[in-house]
Amino acid sequence: MSRILIIGAGGVGNVVAKKCAQHPEVFTEIVVASRTRAKCDAIAAEIKQLYNVTVKTAEVDADSVPQLVALINGVKPQLVINVALPYQDLTIMDACLECGVNYLDTANYEPQDSAHFEYSWQWAYQDKFRDKGLMAVLGCGFDPGVTNIFCSWARKHHYDSIQTIDILDCNAGDHGHPFATNFNPEINIREVTQTVRHWRDGRWIETPPILDDNCVHFSFDYPEAGPRESYLLYHEEMESLVRHIDGLKRIRFWMTFGQAYLTHLKVLENVGMTRIDAVDYEGHKIIPLRFLKALLPDPGSLGTNYTGKTVIGCIFDGVKDGRQSRKYIYNVCDHAEAFREVQAQAVSYTTGVPAMIGAMMMLTGEWQGAGVYNVEQLDPDRFMDCLNRYGLPWQIVDFDGQLPD
Ligand code: NDP
Repeated sequence: MSRILIIGAGGVGNVVAKKCAQHPEVFTEIVVASRTRAKCDAIAAEIKQLYNVTVKTAEVDADSVPQLVALINGVKPQLVINVALPYQDLTIMDACLECGVNYLDTANYEPQDSAHFEYSWQWAYQDKFRDKGLMAVLGCGFDPGVTNIFCSWARKHHYDSIQTIDILDCNAGDHGHPFATNFNPEINIREVTQTVRHWRDGRWIETPPILDDNCVHFSFDYPEAGPRESYLLYHEEMESLVRHIDGLKRIRFWMTFGQAYLTHLKVLENVGMTRIDAVDYEGHKIIPLRFLKALLPDPGSLGTNYTGKTVIGCIFDGVKDGRQSRKYIYNVCDHAEAFREVQAQAVSYTTGVPAMIGAMMMLTGEWQGAGVYNVEQLDPDRFMDCLNRYGLPWQIVDFDGQLPD
């Protein structure tokens, strides 16, 4: 019997809960808890109607370790899946340690008051999890997550050594809104407005943020989506891949943005709406980016009229048996198909499905260990197989296109 506790009932939480409910042979009991219980109840009601599976719900403030401990001790799950916000990663890890429960998440910890993306805080839990014989799996969404697994699978089966990796994330979808973000607006805007970094010849190279006139971008011809302007961006999986893929000379991350999105974001930044420090407003302290989040469409609601596809993958250049080769592994996910299946757009879907598969790997003993792991440290084979079976099929092709130097 495997009981899981899912924390967070947003766009991703909805997908994780529904995908787990599709596999009652593994996930025999599901509890969804979040700050707003009504959102958990709505997901539970849909799951009852779709799959005739009963999901229990609870309210929790995941910033509070005592509240989490009380919840986890009451539920007694084998695994906690954290799909709340990155701010809650450490409190949830602390509560898992206190209760003796394994942990999985999809995004690295971020302090609320500075947009700082790094694994140091969570890697510092290595000894605590190892000493208690518990397993914490970090970053098991799509990117980070599937992109890391594409890298470890390519290294295992197609390369003796990999010299360069380019991760390309394309959303060629149209949700019909003038401006919206595809996952939590606060987290998304913090991520895309930061200074860009990529890894080259043993060190991090900084380049201007995507809103700067001098930012680095090029047009890439994506399978099924066609040519899209793709911008160099810092993304958290590069930090762990540099550590875990030996001999890497360069790794970069590219994401597509439409001109309308960039223009809106530029204006919002220029007028101060993306600030994350508190400002006085009529005697109240408000954080402009949080206020902006309240005005923007809920990412979970975007799916209704979303058309088009996401195309996310990795291009490798490396050597096998003395021969140089370039390969491209990617997944294409259709927004409307994701919505038909689980009432979510493809960005939530591509994050929630890998979180379910990672949980399945842990509960079935395919992934075992004591300590803190990034997913590329775990065997990729069955995970790759499950992607094909559970909604995110991938392709591998020889790559003969052009990338910037
Ligand atoms: P949403 O904003 O849609 O959902 C977040 C959920 O967390 C909401 O239910 C929210 O509750 C809940 N929450 C927030 N704070 C607390 C708290 N203190 N206590 C309890 N619950 C809380 O975000 P998404 O679903 O879009 O994203 C979820 C996670 O997935 C994020 O960490 C995001 O970074 C990550 N992600 C990872 C990706 C990947 O590929 N690896 C891609 C996309 C997202 P309430 O509704 O009350 O605010």
